[in-house]
Amino acid sequence: MPGAQKPPRTPATLEAILASVTEGVLAVDPRGEVLLANGPALRILGVPAGTFGEGKPLREICPVAPLEGLVSGILRDGKAAELPDPVPVGDRFVQASGAPFRAGGGASGAVVVLTDVTRVKRLETVRKDFVANVSHEIRTPLAAIRGYVETLQDGALGDAANAERFLKIIEKHVGQLTNLVDDLLQLSRLEATEAPPTRERVVLRAVIEPSVGTFAEAARKKGVSLERLPGGEGIAVQGDAHLIERAVNNLLDNAIKYTPGGGRVTVETRREGGEARLLVSDTGIGIPAEDQPRVFERFYRVDKSRSREMGGTGLGLAIVKHIAQVHGGRVGLTSTPGVGSVFSVWLPALGSGIATVSGR
Ligand code: ADP
Repeated sequence: MPGAQKPPRTPATLEAILASVTEGVLAVDPRGEVLLANGPALRILGVPAGTFGEGKPLREICPVAPLEGLVSGILRDGKAAELPDPVPVGDRFVQASGAPFRAGGGASGAVVVLTDVTRVKRLETVRKDFVANVSHEIRTPLAAIRGYVETLQDGALGDAANAERFLKIIEKHVGQLTNLVDDLLQLSRLEATEAPPTRERVVLRAVIEPSVGTFAEAARKKGVSLERLPGGEGIAVQGDAHLIERAVNNLLDNAIKYTPGGGRVTVETRREGGEARLLVSDTGIGIPAEDQPRVFERFYRVDKSRSREMGGTGLGLAIVKHIAQVHGGRVGLTSTPGVGSVFSVWLPALGSGIATVSGR
């Protein structure tokens, strides 16, 4: 900047520079006593600011064996080194690398850079869990298919009645695998985007009606009444009609699946301030309070065997949540076991005067 004064290279300036980097920086002298630790280093190591005194041995401020080992190795060998893996420090995961430095021609000290990789570690765990879940979900129907194919090969093919029954079971498991792959693809597409693929004016009622039509037969067969409640006629949002319909379908599918015969499922829309709210209510089995916060997670099911038995993938509500989120909305649930559930999706509403909005 013209006219700005060049800052002097004083210890205070260097300290200010070190304080402003996001990584933790820690320097120790040849005896392993701490010369300097910037704010992020103390935060990463969980050392309360007031308790740190320079000149203390490293092990006193940070009794983390791999870190001490790293520093003493650098001091001993005079060579740069890093931890092979992040180490747990309190509730965080820390990566560290360091190098020797020589001050004033004397023996070498060590400077270590600490990076908080807790978030990365957490994401890695989520990814590993996800892969484990997907593998498990695929293995179960595959094992069943294999079992029945072998039974058919071993002679059951000649037994017409049983052969037919086994083929039906195989067909059901193939259907389960197909649903799973469809849901996984949908979820990964949704996760890869922050906005709906198309942004058009969507009148909610125009989306709900075909959805109700799609499930009318399934509801009738089960003896569940399915209705769209009046009201909320002109409510519109901006987004992707196919995705919103998919969300309504997933909610209706569940509501009918988890409502015994004689029950009732309704769908309605309301305007709440600047938001459009879509509600799918049922008089079904309900969801226990402790499971409610988790049902929108991928693969979370209250009753695993019941869900699978009904062809569920455990991904339906995760998809609904992502559809709401890419539209700038959110989801909610109130439920009482034995009484029923109300699933809600709130989306930013379009003003009623707008004829067509194109976001492209
Ligand atoms: P699934 O394919 O298993 O239905 P979802 O993600 O759609 O997966 O739902 C997750 C779980 O939430 C279900 O397994 C079920 O236990 C519970 N659930 C969803 N909707 C309802 C509902 N309307 N009534 C009772 N339980 C429900």
